[in-house]
Amino acid sequence: MAARPMPYLDELNSAQREAVEALDGPVLMLAGAGTGKTKALTARIVHLLNTGRARPNEILSVTFTNKAAKEMKIRVGKMLGEAVEGMPWLGTFHAICVKLLRRHAELVDLKSNFTILDTDDQIRLLKQLIAANGIDEKRWPARQLAGIIDHWKNRAWTPENVPSAEASAYNNRGTELYDQYQRRLLELNATDFGDLLLHVVTIFQKNPDVLQQYQRWFKYILVDEYQDTNVAQYLWLRLLAGGHKNICCVGDDDQSIYGWRGAEVGNILRFEKDFPGAKVVRLEQNYRSTEHILAAAGGVIRGNEGRLGKELWTEAEGGEKVRLIGHWDGEEEARWIGEEIEAMQRGTRGMRPISLDDMAILVRASHQMRAFEDRFLTIGLPYRVIGGPRFYERLEIRDAMAYFRLVVSPTDDLAFERIVNTPKRGLGDKAQQKIQVCARQNGVPLVEGARILLAEGGITGKGAGQLRALVDNLERWGRMTRVPVINVNDDAVLEDDSTAQAIEYARPEVSHIELAEMVLEESGYIEMWQNDKTPEAPGRLENLKELVKALENFDNLQGFLEHVSLIMDNETDDHGAKVSIMTLHAAKGLEFPAVFLPGWEDGLFPSQRSMDESGLKGLEEERRLAYVGITRAEEICTISFASNRRVFGQWQSQLPSRFVDELPEEHIDVLTPPGLYGGGYGAAAPVGEVRSSIDQRVSEANVYNSPGWKRMQARASQRPVSQPRETRNQVIDAQAISAYTIGDRVFHQKFGYGEVTGIEGDKLDIDFEKAGTKKVVAKFVMASTD
Ligand code: ATP
Ligand code: MG
Repeated sequence: MAARPMPYLDELNSAQREAVEALDGPVLMLAGAGTGKTKALTARIVHLLNTGRARPNEILSVTFTNKAAKEMKIRVGKMLGEAVEGMPWLGTFHAICVKLLRRHAELVDLKSNFTILDTDDQIRLLKQLIAANGIDEKRWPARQLAGIIDHWKNRAWTPENVPSAEASAYNNRGTELYDQYQRRLLELNATDFGDLLLHVVTIFQKNPDVLQQYQRWFKYILVDEYQDTNVAQYLWLRLLAGGHKNICCVGDDDQSIYGWRGAEVGNILRFEKDFPGAKVVRLEQNYRSTEHILAAAGGVIRGNEGRLGKELWTEAEGGEKVRLIGHWDGEEEARWIGEEIEAMQRGTRGMRPISLDDMAILVRASHQMRAFEDRFLTIGLPYRVIGGPRFYERLEIRDAMAYFRLVVSPTDDLAFERIVNTPKRGLGDKAQQKIQVCARQNGVPLVEGARILLAEGGITGKGAGQLRALVDNLERWGRMTRVPVINVNDDAVLEDDSTAQAIEYARPEVSHIELAEMVLEESGYIEMWQNDKTPEAPGRLENLKELVKALENFDNLQGFLEHVSLIMDNETDDHGAKVSIMTLHAAKGLEFPAVFLPGWEDGLFPSQRSMDESGLKGLEEERRLAYVGITRAEEICTISFASNRRVFGQWQSQLPSRFVDELPEEHIDVLTPPGLYGGGYGAAAPVGEVRSSIDQRVSEANVYNSPGWKRMQARASQRPVSQPRETRNQVIDAQAISAYTIGDRVFHQKFGYGEVTGIEGDKLDIDFEKAGTKKVVAKFVMASTD
């Protein structure tokens, strides 16, 4: 066969080429971020195909996400210069295992059409088992058991071989229930996610002939992100590669970020032991990021002990330093980032315009996304959330919103259906059906139907009392949203005679924020998650706090609900460029010209949990996450933190993350926050001075009182330093200093752009371009830089 052209090899450096061309035997590519591991792995597939070593369906290639699999297929096609005829075995561990399991289901007593349970089904099943065993589910929640079982499955432990050291799990009954659960799944012809891998490993272990068949079939095995494989995945790979040992794994010990989900960075470190004679290729040239970005990432990761310690270099010298900026609070951070993104999109400071598709915001915890989603919606900045539901689509947020909807509009039957038995109120399907029938017969909404049913004694027992409490609560909360009288005596509003505007100033007895907290507390919804012992529960509680925080930007629940329905509507539009918002975990393997890393505060990043833990394990994993975050950036990397965050109605002052202190000074530009004098770019202050101000910040808890900070502000503005800026979200009392000065250009959602012509406490006189002169409360306007 005539040699085929191999242009894809010319795109590689010599180390990459070596890894690509060493087709036979085990190969490990162990190298830092952006050194072209994934690129080399892709080239290796192309080379295998091009040299005729394997056909597309004889290559087993594992990626970490479905998205990565899709991208790899596209890249293979491009490099090969022709469409690839299906690569059925290129995918995630799960995707590949589903296929294998369908083929051999009978070997583990399943039928090939088995169903895969989602988490909800899984929990329901566990609850049934728990009840059947006479265990009090309140004390020993099903979710806790689900977590334990998942953990065991990640370690490839079937019920028979869970080690005795684990015997105390779930009140000493974990193993027994695990066994029952597995049996029940078989009866239902079902699996959960963890089973997919575990069953296939069992099949391979118990059926050498089947294993051999696949060992021969998969002529070559390739694995990306090897540092994040768990024990079950590792065993699976070892079994499959056991024959020819043509396995090529690539990874980076510094990017191991799934320890909390059972990943074992040790897998990568013992590759050479498992596969003696393995070729180990190290790559040191980074092709992704500028010098400053690499150096900043390197500075942070140096703080970890027991690393393999790789040095990276890049030809991309110079470029922008990593930018660091502190903000007054989280809302201001979101606002500033929104403005920055728009500026970059236009092309700022002599830089080329950057498309929204090329920018990403990477957060530590998904609840941080809310502030950005809200802000971007307000300014009409298109965004997408990657790797998870958008904030307002999350289960707990939808539940909470259903409560709010019902409070505002008691006729919202869908909302009622959603929450009537969430948290559990002892109202099963039968009781719910009765409510439906009663409502229909009387031609009234479900809440009303429930009330009638209760009055008629149509519902009895435990459920009746709880239903009554719910119905009564809904009515009471509903009364609180309605403003008793419109306060037209307030002089401040007389200049605007529209009723809508007047209502803005009339206050119900309880603020909508207090009301929202009350609803979530009194309904038992918060408690439900507090009692929940699964790993996701703390995150859900955080999201609920974040939801309450979101309410501050609105003057009533109604306005908020409208805003959210707009967000949900927005979602259907999938065209055009968009900023990506995702967690650091979801960003693994990706790259963007411009990256924003907000919320670098102790307790948020590193997470509180990792800081509370004894030992450094958790903290080191957080540091690797920081490394992953910074190394996603190609040209511009912006790290930010806020001094204040509001947690359930309480302002909390925050300290900058310890990782901020680990950023090497010479690669950092500290930007001056918009702070006192409105938005826009601040001049970068000398790093030394700002560093000292940051250090001071750590000791003083609130940087805005620190002399260094005030000096910096004064320099930036060349105006005398006055009191710190009041954010529009803070409660403004009589003495409060307005955030605005006369002559400021502002924006009001209803009246548009205008200029401040007078200030009186928290009220501003504004000359609006279109709407004329009006007096409005300062918190309803925002500073405009247009
Ligand atoms: P991560 O650890 O973040 O997953 P990685 O090591 O997999 O990174 P890649 O994503 O493969 O790195 O490559 C990073 C960037 O460098 C990509 O844009 C890629 O196209 C480019 N690149 C890789 N190798 C080369 C090369 N030899 N010449 C030019 N560009 C390269
Ligand atoms: Mg990669």
